[in-house]
Amino acid sequence: MAIRRVVVAAAAAATVVTVPFLVPSTALGSAPSQPSAGSGQRPPAKQAVAVGNGGAVSSVNPYATQVGIDVLKHGGNAVDAAVATAAALGVVEPYSAGVGGGGYMVAYNARTHQIRTIDGRETAPARMRPDSFIDPSTGKPIEFNTAVNSGLSVGVPGTPALWQRALRDGGTISLAKALKPATAIARDGFVVNDQFRAQTEMNEARFRQFSSTRDLFLPGGKLPVVGSRFRNPDLARTYRELARKGVGAIYHGDIGRDVVKTVAKPPMAAGAPAVRAGLMEPKDLANYHALAQAPTRTTYRGLDVYSMAPSSSGGTTVGEALNILENFRLSPADRVQALHHYLEASRIAFADRNRWVGDPAFSRVPTQGLLAKKFAKDRACLISPKAALTSPLAPADPGKPGSRCVAGTGSPEAYEGPSTTHLVTADRWGNVVSYTLTIEQTGGSAITVPGRGFLLNNELTDFDFAPISAGVPDPNLPDGGKRPRSSMSPTIVLKDGKPYVAVGSPGGATIITTVLQTLVNRIDLGMTLPQAVAAPRISQRNRTTTEAEPAFLKSPDRAALEALGQKFVLAPPAFTPSPEIGAAAALEFRPKGTIEAVAEPVRRGGGSAMVVHKAG
Ligand code: GLU
Repeated sequence: MAIRRVVVAAAAAATVVTVPFLVPSTALGSAPSQPSAGSGQRPPAKQAVAVGNGGAVSSVNPYATQVGIDVLKHGGNAVDAAVATAAALGVVEPYSAGVGGGGYMVAYNARTHQIRTIDGRETAPARMRPDSFIDPSTGKPIEFNTAVNSGLSVGVPGTPALWQRALRDGGTISLAKALKPATAIARDGFVVNDQFRAQTEMNEARFRQFSSTRDLFLPGGKLPVVGSRFRNPDLARTYRELARKGVGAIYHGDIGRDVVKTVAKPPMAAGAPAVRAGLMEPKDLANYHALAQAPTRTTYRGLDVYSMAPSSSGGTTVGEALNILENFRLSPADRVQALHHYLEASRIAFADRNRWVGDPAFSRVPTQGLLAKKFAKDRACLISPKAALTSPLAPADPGKPGSRCVAGTGSPEAYEGPSTTHLVTADRWGNVVSYTLTIEQTGGSAITVPGRGFLLNNELTDFDFAPISAGVPDPNLPDGGKRPRSSMSPTIVLKDGKPYVAVGSPGGATIITTVLQTLVNRIDLGMTLPQAVAAPRISQRNRTTTEAEPAFLKSPDRAALEALGQKFVLAPPAFTPSPEIGAAAALEFRPKGTIEAVAEPVRRGGGSAMVVHKAG
């Protein structure tokens, strides 16, 4: 049995913070006028890099980025823009984001110079138990995909509560206003692109199993045609109801009742075999809270790096790896050694993450210990410039000096698929938001709430179904009211106390390595931010092989790293024919208020970066 709400991690404890998350800018004396909807007849033009001032947005989708920019242009702040952009992603990226899912927001407040975070992670229903994913007839964990496509994997959604909390604590517009542009896109439709079609296609078989999902996402029983217009009037109605009634319509009202009904009895298409029912009850929704909590913080070569504390493992793992790397000189002149050290630091940090990080309300998570410079220095002793470590490497105990320079054999990493979406926003007052949101797998549980237009998450598959190592406590087993461990790493880096870079990515556990590699590329390898985002990615997560993108496998770095004992394998295909890792969205802040907004040039079909006023 996991420990139930007894010991709470010291610094990263989930607490209700009364200090505003992001104080509305004093420059906004009155409420901004209504933003215009981002739904034109044609999709907004798309570019991967934009430089200018007055505010910026980067996301994976041009409609969503345009919505955020419109909010900023009409006087909204970075939080307003982030919520409106996320709501639009719920329409145009419904397989990665939406009110049926969860996420994490990190925000810098230009007035107080503070960084605050909100944990809007999906939460297990009270009836969930550590053995809920064990098949009683075999005593073994149920098959992963059986769990994915089921009511059992659906966590209590956190996204609506996060939006409400973010706007209440740091926004300047109402939820109704923030939802309006997205509502217009849902009503009027958006132009189907290759990504939407490809993501529907990869989900086609499971979408056909659920009548509500088939009817919505396979219009006329077919895959949506690229260039056609995709409308979601049910979602438009859901957003309008949330605008009228607030998120209580989900946590206490009729939308929530439909969620519970759907989870208990997923709407199977005729002839489709029944799937496992979920455990959610109305009281689980009523008890849900988005948590305000302290960010993780570490320094890296004079910069301050803030990210998400547990229940996400993002902040501790990126932070520990950076702390390990700080013990070495990395330079563009020796990029092979720099990449070797990046892989080894990530390998070590993942060994420690897998052993220690879970929901801090249920087990003691040594957040500060994992982020301690002394711990990282001790762990750094494992790295040799001449040979790669062997995985799975054993974790070390941050509370026990002495055990840290022993490699040992650890446990394999559990599966986490690539999905999710990330956005960054900044406003003219200097506020910054880095926000990652998800419904877990691309397409979530594949279960659409009938008549409501949104997919339910399968976030509870982020729990370990059984202990990863026999006899070793596993902080990430399921339990009632518990949040599954995440990898989401929305990050904001400060230089001299002011925003320098904001970055994040989708991609399951590769989120952590994508954020880490982007920072190493930018800070240590002399790349510009667009170069740092575009560079070929490699992801080492305490596995015998490092996943790599095709461009890396064709580069001379590969042979040089293999000569050191690093082993590579092609990353699994994500959504395009070409395998890829992550899909970053980032901002860099330059002198005199200039912002460089950066999206992916190629991955996921290319993202969309925009600024309010273009430079030059
Ligand atoms: N469930 C993942 C996490 O919380 C996010 C989904 C994904 O990117 O695969 O880390």
